[in-house]
Amino acid sequence: MAVQRYQADLHIHTLLSPCGEVEMIPSLIIEAAIGAGLDIIGIADHNSCENAAAVIEASRGSGVKVLPGMEAQSLEGVHLLCLFDEIEQAEKLQESVYASLPFPDVNNEKYQKIFREQIIVDGNDEFVGYCQRYLSLPTSMDIEELWRITDSAGGIMIPSHIDRRSTGLCEVLGMIPDSPDFAAVEISGNMNPEQARESYCDIANRAVVCNSDAHWLSAIGERQTAFYLEHRSVAELKMACRGECGRRIENA
Ligand SMILES: [Zn+2]
Ligand SMILES: [Zn+2]
Repeated sequence: MAVQRYQADLHIHTLLSPCGEVEMIPSLIIEAAIGAGLDIIGIADHNSCENAAAVIEASRGSGVKVLPGMEAQSLEGVHLLCLFDEIEQAEKLQESVYASLPFPDVNNEKYQKIFREQIIVDGNDEFVGYCQRYLSLPTSMDIEELWRITDSAGGIMIPSHIDRRSTGLCEVLGMIPDSPDFAAVEISGNMNPEQARESYCDIANRAVVCNSDAHWLSAIGERQTAFYLEHRSVAELKMACRGECGRRIENA
């Protein structure tokens, strides 16, 4: 099978994220992805994959491949993009993440102040319910622990927007640790891959991935990365990030 070029935006939020716009519903996300020329998208709400299956369902017949996952927040406060092939794999991570997130007391005033509606929908964009956890808080798991769970469930973990002051790996830790062995890092829209390599020399030979981190529709595909793969799977993404067997990425 030949290697083909696929346009990817691996970091998209839905209306489940407290900071996501209500327009981020499955059918419109897929429509926007098609409009942006995307072949692969990642669904990554904060600390939850509860809307990922709905987006997968909405993508049927569209030609867009949807990778379910989440943007987990570690104990250190670092955002980590975690993506999988199957929803069941993402749910394994979600189970651990939910167990380590504070469960709110709905009568607590602090809860009422910081909590925003976190909406769960189905594949037809219909309202299913509200997620009652504080999705915007850090979990009590450190980076290593989240990595171990993600990796053993067959997922890929890419530190999100490493250059962002509050939640980016390089700004929070001041470095990229040798372990876990990240194959790639993501940068925000504030810099390009060359600038990132100059600013953070310990990126070394890791791939630098650009995604939109879209919280509203018009942002979807604003930043993309081209992946040269045999087919669209997490294992192929990992090979492309490491430049193995003819797979590679391109930041153009
Ligand atoms: Zn983030
Ligand atoms: Zn994000």
